Amino acid sequence: MSQPTNAIAVEGLTKRFGETTAIEDLSFTVEGGELFGLLGPNGAGKSTLINILCTLLGPTEGTARVNGHDVTSETGAVRDSLGIVFQEPAIDEELTGAENLAFHARMYGTRKAEREQRIPEVLDLVELAEVADDPVESYSGGMQRRLEIGRGLMHEPEVLFLDEPTTGLDARTRRDTWEYIERLNEESGVSIVITTHYMDEADFLCERVAVMDQGEVVAIDSPAELKASLGGDVLALGLTDGREELFERLEAQPWVREYTATEDGVAVTMAQGEQRVADLVRLADDAGATIESVDLQKPSLAKVFLSLTGSTITEREAGDREEDHAEATDSDPATDRPTEAAGATEATEAPEAVE
Ligand code: ADP
Repeated sequence: MSQPTNAIAVEGLTKRFGETTAIEDLSFTVEGGELFGLLGPNGAGKSTLINILCTLLGPTEGTARVNGHDVTSETGAVRDSLGIVFQEPAIDEELTGAENLAFHARMYGTRKAEREQRIPEVLDLVELAEVADDPVESYSGGMQRRLEIGRGLMHEPEVLFLDEPTTGLDARTRRDTWEYIERLNEESGVSIVITTHYMDEADFLCERVAVMDQGEVVAIDSPAELKASLGGDVLALGLTDGREELFERLEAQPWVREYTATEDGVAVTMAQGEQRVADLVRLADDAGATIESVDLQKPSLAKVFLSLTGSTITEREAGDREEDHAEATDSDPATDRPTEAAGATEATEAPEAVE
């Protein structure tokens, strides 16, 4: 029996633009049917990686396969295997949903009979069958985003790339879009790779996440495992008096994994912190301490990023942008996509990136 084909297999993948190394020595696989995330700040190398996987850019070193096909020597098969939804809208608002899909299918050279069969299937898949004949300008933001996804699914790809799928959507629509993407992955079995710089998006959606920073994958695992690597929840107490006595008592508790003195009290690491608040308050009380504040901090991907890179994602983006302004003169003739270094629209969204 042959091995099941990976949706994506990347080995030693490197891309340089002149002096800039956009991605360096990446190696990882995405399994068939997986919902996988590339998480990282602007400038981490996500678009470069996606553009190589889509055959829009050639690698400098290393190999990449999509659905078993090599991105350099089998570009046609790679393109047939994948659907891609870029951030920039690519639908015509004056046409109906069905007309947009028909137009896209004609561009792909799909035969009429096939088109007529596939369009209602896709409209069903993206939950737009009822508004198929309404002009797209009457659709909500979420419906338009689903139609974009529908375009990417027209030729029944094995792998679907969604580039920052919820940028520009309001909070409620983002949530609905996440739920929709999850359903699509479960029901159709298509492998989905999303790029995102939103921690909460990666956490909610992805079975596994590759955390990218400065062109490298610094960790790759499920959001739960990544968060577990931080060692547990942290209960921070603000205290006056009795600190030393409390430290002694903490030593004796089997549920305390670690504690550290903070400027105004103590931070205690443990599993399931919400179930230990009462215990910790009692201990502090017994130690004669006066409690000024109690703060339960659950692990988050934002904290994982911080612990892996020493910077928050916002700091990283701010720093990178300064560097980019200094060096962003290079461009690549192999792609007509503008360099992401300009990133002006994304810059305004940076605060949301840390949840
Ligand atoms: P992300 O998608 O994570 O924001 P990118 O892949 O766009 O990251 O960028 C990674 C790095 O490569 C950045 O430093 C960026 O400035 C640089 N880069 C990307 N594309 C080009 C290009 N066409 N020419 C020169 N540098 C580029």
